[in-house]
Amino acid sequence: MLRQAMSGDLPDDPTDEEFMSEVLDLCIGCKGCAKDCPSEVDMAKLKAEVTHAYHQEHGSSLRDKLFANVDTLARLGSALAPLSNAASAVPGARTVIEKTVGIASDRTLPTFERESLQDWFADRGPQVDEAAADRKAVLFPDTYTNYSHPEIGRAAVEVLEAAGVHVQLADRTDSGRPAHSKGFLEKSRAAAEQNVEALAPAVAEGWDVVLVEPSDAVMFQLDYLDLLSGAAVETLAENTYGLCEYLDRFDLDRNVEWAAPGEALTYHGHCHQKATKKDHHAVGVLRRAGYDVDPLDSGCCGMAGSFGYEREHFSMSKAIGSILFDQVDDSDGETVVAPGASCRTQLGDRDAADAEPPHPVEKLAAALA
Ligand code: SF4
Repeated sequence: MLRQAMSGDLPDDPTDEEFMSEVLDLCIGCKGCAKDCPSEVDMAKLKAEVTHAYHQEHGSSLRDKLFANVDTLARLGSALAPLSNAASAVPGARTVIEKTVGIASDRTLPTFERESLQDWFADRGPQVDEAAADRKAVLFPDTYTNYSHPEIGRAAVEVLEAAGVHVQLADRTDSGRPAHSKGFLEKSRAAAEQNVEALAPAVAEGWDVVLVEPSDAVMFQLDYLDLLSGAAVETLAENTYGLCEYLDRFDLDRNVEWAAPGEALTYHGHCHQKATKKDHHAVGVLRRAGYDVDPLDSGCCGMAGSFGYEREHFSMSKAIGSILFDQVDDSDGETVVAPGASCRTQLGDRDAADAEPPHPVEKLAAALA
């Protein structure tokens, strides 16, 4: 694209079909350029803007709308589980979904838990008194954690409480990230406004906001500042942390008595954490918890949210993923850990024998003495 720009060949209209399909279509929104490019050009941000303009001019596909509304679908999937899980496992269902919606039939579709993280926490409540705690945190249960993998959220609550933090759960689950990455900027802005309205007053009263999913954490920390302006969003962005970033930043993991598991882990970080220079926190915390950690010098896993689910991008996604798979094979780690839900899906889809690897916080919960 830079070459085209320098030779004056870029179209006047950035929503030009060829520009969209030949140039922007293969940008997976990893924000790698925001870190690697000396001028810090964030193509993911530009792609969101141009895709938004494209939607306004040409409309959007059913698949894009489904991905942008994944929070609503996941809530329904959880309410109807296990029926919703059985429906997608019916022989031939994935082929029908590929033909009608364009989601690759070779991809494993997400499953949903009947008891969401919010359901679990509503019954259990916080175990560390607010008056006795050094810090208090609102854990934002992102869509994937809340409805598909509540065990990761439960591990996060246990680790935070072991570190002496008073924890409450946010009522909302949609960070706006899925809509943002598909160019539905009005929808992502609305989600940002609702989250700022709900959480900024708590931050003003001394609460921190913590997320386990890196792309949602970076949405709060960075992308909200593009969508909204004002003191409330800036305060929320400044006081939002990824889980391991939070433990490391405030030395909270040093309050914990770890069982020194000694297991060798291979760590694959998330692109958005790397782009915001927050990827080192998990490695430090896991090491202090007693793990032997090999942090991979890896790039994007190739899944990149919905990209790897899309029929026309499936083979490209797997090709990008194969670079990561080779790095994993070359590492001495016994277990791979990855904070990103997409990365875990890609690693779990590597072949039929692979299970999704754990989130680092699950390993921290397992190391609690
Ligand atoms: S794929 Fe990643 S590094 Fe390449 S342009 Fe898109 S956001 Fe930037």
